[in-house]
Parts: sequence; structure tokens; C-alpha cells
Amino acid sequence: MALAAETQSIVNQFEYTDDDVNKGVKEFLRQMAEGLEKDGTSLSQIPTYVTGVPNGTEKGLYMAVDLGGTNFRVCSVKLNGDGTFNITSDKVAVPKALMVAKTAEELFAFLALQIKKFLEKHHGDHFEAHIRRRMTVSSPEGYKDENVFRMGFTFSFPVQQMGINKGTLIRWTKGFDIQDAVGKDVCALLQQEIDKLHLPVKVAALVNDTVGTLMAHSYGAPGSHGAVLGAIFGTGTNGAYVEKLSNVKKPMVGEYDTSTGEMVINTEWGSFDNQLNVLPNTPWDVVLDKQSVNPGFQMYEKRVSGMFLGEILRLVILDLLKNPDVSFLKDDNSSTNDLRSTTDIAETSSIFQQWGVDSSILSVAAGDHTPALTLLRKGLDDNLQIHAAAYEDAQAIKSVADAIGRRAARLAAVAIAAIVLQTGKLNDPAHKDEPIDVGVDGSLVEHYPYFREMIHEALSIVDGIGKEGAKRIRIGLAEDGSGVGAALIALVAAGMEKNTTDAEEILGELRSTAKAQAAASVDDEKATSD
Ligand code: ADP
Ligand code: MG
Repeated sequence: MALAAETQSIVNQFEYTDDDVNKGVKEFLRQMAEGLEKDGTSLSQIPTYVTGVPNGTEKGLYMAVDLGGTNFRVCSVKLNGDGTFNITSDKVAVPKALMVAKTAEELFAFLALQIKKFLEKHHGDHFEAHIRRRMTVSSPEGYKDENVFRMGFTFSFPVQQMGINKGTLIRWTKGFDIQDAVGKDVCALLQQEIDKLHLPVKVAALVNDTVGTLMAHSYGAPGSHGAVLGAIFGTGTNGAYVEKLSNVKKPMVGEYDTSTGEMVINTEWGSFDNQLNVLPNTPWDVVLDKQSVNPGFQMYEKRVSGMFLGEILRLVILDLLKNPDVSFLKDDNSSTNDLRSTTDIAETSSIFQQWGVDSSILSVAAGDHTPALTLLRKGLDDNLQIHAAAYEDAQAIKSVADAIGRRAARLAAVAIAAIVLQTGKLNDPAHKDEPIDVGVDGSLVEHYPYFREMIHEALSIVDGIGKEGAKRIRIGLAEDGSGVGAALIALVAAGMEKNTTDAEEILGELRSTAKAQAAASVDDEKATSD
């Protein structure tokens, strides 16, 4: 019984009560307001210079590229104007040597070359026509501006954004290290290399993946209002939302369109409450943080996202293994263990290595409803070299894993609830009874069983939301955020660049003609089918 009792005491420490959720939401709202007022706060609240969200009627062919940790993805996105799109994409691994190249040029020349290959392969006609025009037209540019693809550039490294297609690299992460690029405008670096190859491409927008998620979900979600929040629950966690321009009190350096009265804000919420005013802090959270590369930072992320949940579980398992008072993974407490097998943990098991436990084992545990926990025991065997775990061992691991997952989902609800409240949409007469859309992306929210259900349950007990409010909050997976979202931001940017008066009008126009266009296209369909 000792193991069950010890497990229960650990589970209790991961309990994040309704009261905790409400305290968390209040503090999140406070830190959001603080971040809108000044720099250097725990929630950075970075203005993105994106001043509106699409509504599904946007049309056209755009390009998008995404430089993540490992791959470079190039796509073209055809927005059909009815909430649907067609996407063509190619992915190539970034050579390790280029991640640590001497000059920025080496990396960005490689990226431009991939764009050229993509255009030749998938848009050959357009590409050749462009090259032909360049050869025959007398003007030195040799091409018309409207023949140039607008491209959104998703760049998943910390940048100081100065405008919709301008941002300087603050530092590299994820194994990249090219000092030459630090402090430079990454859009300009890419454009230079594109121009050297004479490609008909303009880097029109610099995109954060959360903003891409918000845009993609606004385009694809049914309903006319667009999403209020785009959130990532993958390796890390972060969110971008639509804020009233009048609430952004700190100065903004770049130019932007003021006509919508809105600004998309990248919260960088991974660092919510680094000061631990309200975040839970179990002994295992303390150890994880201490052994991390950035102690005291990203404290919310360290309790919520995929990179960390497996590590928290691993630290608990190690403690249980060391505890002389409980018999855990020792084979002597088994009633149902296979008689011919003994529990055994390989010496080389990744359970003994920092970051050795992937969060996907939590999903296996949460989804295992078999009477003997067969799936989890197989998962322990296959992934962690814990062979022939007893039912009681698996039960203990499942209880702890479920508690860690449930706390993460309820913490996720804190951020979502605070942002829904901040937008005021629940009480806005213009939105009466209408759904409030939240677009989400990332392996954790996609694959962890009941993650969204647990978020919803927590939303329903938040003061100011309640059961009725929670019913209106729709959390949907954003389809292909980095491609479609970046294309949509390129579209907005293309509108802004024409001239300033156009820039001020474009989103308003998109909005006001949305209903008319939708009606017209229904008529068109009728006309053609008649
Ligand atoms: P990225 O954040 O790099 O865009 P993902 O959204 O795929 O990539 O997130 C990867 C993270 O999700 C990793 O930390 C991984 O441990 C975690 N993860 C992957 N699959 C699952 C799963 N089935 N359940 C829970 N977490 C998962
Ligand atoms: Mg991602």
C-alpha cells in the first residue's frame, strides 16, 4: 500500500484548484496590463504591427517560408476566398554546418536557393515568364511589381520587430550560432540573397508562429468575427491575441495602420510570472528549473509545454525509485506480473538522462483505458527500457503523469481565460451569443487526450466566464498555421505597402465587402449551377 499512498501524496502536490485558477487569471491580467505599459516586464507583450485578422474572404497566391529549429519549409498558398486554401510545400533539412556558418550570407543564400528550386518545380510558368521579361524589357528591373510574389517569413527565433517586414535578430537558439547575423534585419538578409538570384519574390512580412496560428484560424474558422487568440502548445508555449490599440501604452517604433484600432500582440507568455507570485512550485519544478539552461526564466512554459512535462515526470519517477519506503519497479509487489519475467530497468535507460523522457509518454498514459494498463506498460518498455513493469508500477506512473498533464491543461486555461476576459468579447453586445474562437497548434494540444476538454472544464469555473461563457469559447486546431498564417500576413502587408491611404483602408474594406462578396459568391454558384 505504501506506493499507492506515496503516489497519492505526490498527485496532491500537482493539484491546481479552482481557486488557484482564478488567482492565476487575475495575476495574468495584471501582468498583461503591465507589459502593455512598459518594456522589461515578465510578459513582453510585443506589438507585431499586424493590425487586423482575416475573415476568410481573402484571395490570391502568396508564398510562405518557415525557418524552425531543424527544417526550412517553402510553400505557396492559394487562398480561395471562401475559408479554404490549397497549399504546395517542400521541406529541406538545414545542413548542420550552415547553422554555425561564419557569415549570415552563407545561411541565407542557402534559403534563397531553396526558394528558387521551389519556384522552378511548382511555379515553372510564372518563373520562366518572369525571367523572360527580365531579359527582354529595357528597364533595369525588367519586371512589373504585380508579378512579384509576396512572401511571409516565419522565423522562430527571438527578434526585435521594427515593422511588418523588418526585425533584428536578438540571439540564436536551438543550436544555431552565426554571430554575424545577430543585430541584423533578417528580412533584409533574406531579400538580398533572393535579389542576387533575381527571383520574383518580395519578403513582405516577418511572422511569429503564434500570429500565424491566429491568422490561419481566423481565415478558416466558420463565423464572421475572426479568432481572438492563437496559441502554441508544442515544444514551448506562447500566444498572440488581438488587442485594442488604445490599450497599448508603450511606444511603438515602426509604422502601422491605425484604421482598425487593433494590434496583434505577441504575449511571449512562456515567461508569465517568472517571479512566482502565483505559479505552483513543487519540489520537482524547483529541480527542473535549477538544472535548466535558463533558471528563473520561462517559468510558466516549464509547467505547461511539451519540452518539460516529460522531464517533470522523470524527476518524480527517480524520486520514487530512490525512496526506500516504497517498492517501485522492483517486481516484488506484483500480483499480476508475468511469472516468467522480472521487472528490469536497463542501465542505459533514458530515464537516467536529463530530458530523457518525451512528453508523448504522458499521452500514452492518459489514453490507456485498458484494465491492465497494457499500452502504458508497452510504452515504458519500448521508449524507456523499463521492462515488465508491474501493474502497480504502471498505475503509479499513470496517476502522476495524469496529474502533471491536468495541471498543465488548467494552467493553459489561465492564459486563455485571461485573454478572453481582456478582449471583453463575452460582454460585447456586437458579439452577443456568438462563439469566441481560439486557434491552437502544437503536438501537446493536438495529441494529449482530453487536453482541450480539461481546459474547457477550467474555463467554466473562472469568475467572469462561468459555464455559459465557457460554452461560447471554441478551441479549434488551426490548420497549417505556419503556411497559411504567413501567407495571410503577406497579404495584409502587400495591401499596406501600396500607399499609405490604401494601407489605412485595406482592412476596413476587406471587412465591409466581406458579407457582400460572400453573398455574391453564393449567387455566382447558383448562377453557374442553374
Ligand atoms: P514545435 O514546437 O517544434 O513546432 P511540436 O508542436 O511538434 O513542435 O511539439 C513538439 C513537442 O511536443 C515535443 O516537446 C514533444 O515532446 C511533444 N510531443 C510530441 N508528441 C506528443 C504527444 N503525443 N503527447 C504529448 N506531447 C507530445
Ligand atoms: Mg510548431
